[in-house]
Amino acid sequence: MAVNDIDDIYASLGISSRVLNICEDVLGGLDERFREIDRTSEYCQLKVLKAFQKNNVNESCLLGTSGYGYNDIGRDTLEKVYSDYFHTQDCLVRPQITCGTHALALALMSNLRPGDELLSAVGKPYDTLEEVIGIRPSKGSLAEYGITYAQADLNPDGTPSLDNIRNAITPKTRLVTIQRSKGYQTRPSLSVETIGKIIETVKSVRSDIICMVDNCYGEFVERIEPTDVGADMVVGSLIKNPGGGLAQVGGYIAGTCECIENVSYRLTAPGLGREVGPSLEALPRMYQGFFMGPVVAASALKSAIFAATLYERYGFESYPSASEERHDIIQAITFGKPEGLIAFCEGIQAAAPVDSQYAPEPWDMPGYDSKVIMAAGAFVSGSSIELSADGPLREPYTAYFQGGLTWPHGKFGIIKSFQTLVDKGLILC
Ligand SMILES: *Cc1c(COP(=O)(O)O)cnc(C)c1O
Repeated sequence: MAVNDIDDIYASLGISSRVLNICEDVLGGLDERFREIDRTSEYCQLKVLKAFQKNNVNESCLLGTSGYGYNDIGRDTLEKVYSDYFHTQDCLVRPQITCGTHALALALMSNLRPGDELLSAVGKPYDTLEEVIGIRPSKGSLAEYGITYAQADLNPDGTPSLDNIRNAITPKTRLVTIQRSKGYQTRPSLSVETIGKIIETVKSVRSDIICMVDNCYGEFVERIEPTDVGADMVVGSLIKNPGGGLAQVGGYIAGTCECIENVSYRLTAPGLGREVGPSLEALPRMYQGFFMGPVVAASALKSAIFAATLYERYGFESYPSASEERHDIIQAITFGKPEGLIAFCEGIQAAAPVDSQYAPEPWDMPGYDSKVIMAAGAFVSGSSIELSADGPLREPYTAYFQGGLTWPHGKFGIIKSFQTLVDKGLILC
């Protein structure tokens, strides 16, 4: 027996030769797409490297501080690296920022004052922000502080409506939030170019309105970032793209001096600002994760395109569709019934390096208004740059798939999910 045969190792991991053949056939048509992804990844990798070198990242930057964290050279230098990557005046990147929602809440709460209005330019924002804003009543929300909310609805096809945005701006509008990624919706994710058009529209009404972009899942997918097209702030999570799978916690907010200064006083305390905040032991992984980010994002993108192409072939609708250009790493696949969504997530979980022996169960996750199923056998708890899938248990039973630290693992995860649906009789092939 040829022990180094690739079919044999797939077979030993539960993949039938029939399923493997189908998958390899699908992949045969994706060479050109993958080459394009590698080119973007190459570009972003060099952009990151340039930012490291410009700021003279050196060995002492990898040492952390404790306590107040005064004069934390590693932390301050990393923030300069991020600023240079995003072409912004300033940035905060901290392990004290717990997640993407926390980073977004900080950016909003620090830059809005009672009487101001927040406008979402692209319809309903991400689920967890509903409580931050107070769309769903919540303790500590912006609404409790007298900050009102308005929303520019999308066009019927899910694209942003510049007219609706223009019409929704009032003298009270202080900040416009633009969510790049679709989140748990089936609208298209936004290209950086489209984000630029939204910002241009807002600024043409009043140039002092702050334009903030929720950049979650978008980093390194295109050669430019929203701050290259006029965003005053971009916000994201380090357990997504910019952490490269290595950062164990953290968030970033990059933007203008004024916006970031406001954030710094909300992050710690008025008067203290950015001067405090120890980096503890977090810096080596934060630096290395950002360095690895472009290649990891490329693995995730390839996995997403492979999944879309494979499942579309068997009649499942995917967003974005297999052939569409990508603006984030999320792939939505619609199963139409709970069994399909659950089987898909079970397959992803079974492909994991950690916790593959467990099956995911739908649960009432804080911040979400319906049960959510999550498959994540991750090194970092909840990390969604690692191979993961999740979705709310509601119509139309869409799985949101993302991540994959390496392309071979992302590929295997998709094959395993497909095999699971085949084994359960949900796909006939
Ligand atoms: C992930 C995500 C967030 C933040 O979620 P956390 O789980 O708090 O990190 C916000 N907006 C979008 C679009 C996201 O994808």
